[in-house]
Amino acid sequence: MHELGLCDALLRMVKDISVKEELTQVEKITLEIGELSGVVPAYMSDCWTAVVDGTPFQNTALVIESVPGVARCLDCEEEFRIDLKSMRCPFCQSDKLMPISGQDMTLKEIEAC
Ligand SMILES: [Zn+2]
Repeated sequence: MHELGLCDALLRMVKDISVKEELTQVEKITLEIGELSGVVPAYMSDCWTAVVDGTPFQNTALVIESVPGVARCLDCEEEFRIDLKSMRCPFCQSDKLMPISGQDMTLKEIEAC
């Protein structure tokens, strides 16, 4: 389960930003998780709760927004939302797909009071 490592990295990132921006209390962070990133949002929430426990960020809420996985078919050039189960082009059934979005996990927003 690599979500724990990701949450550690995320916490470090949030710490760095809050020091740099001189934030006293971070209320909420918003994380975008791509459908193709392989990161499971529910695991991220659980791990976040675990890594922030006992830190100044233990009351910081983690909000997760899912980003759809979009790909282009290399055979027919159509763009579509990827069906994660089939991983095939819905137009020509080709499996030569090039992902366009939804591969990353990004820290979108930090809200502080
Ligand atoms: Zn196609």
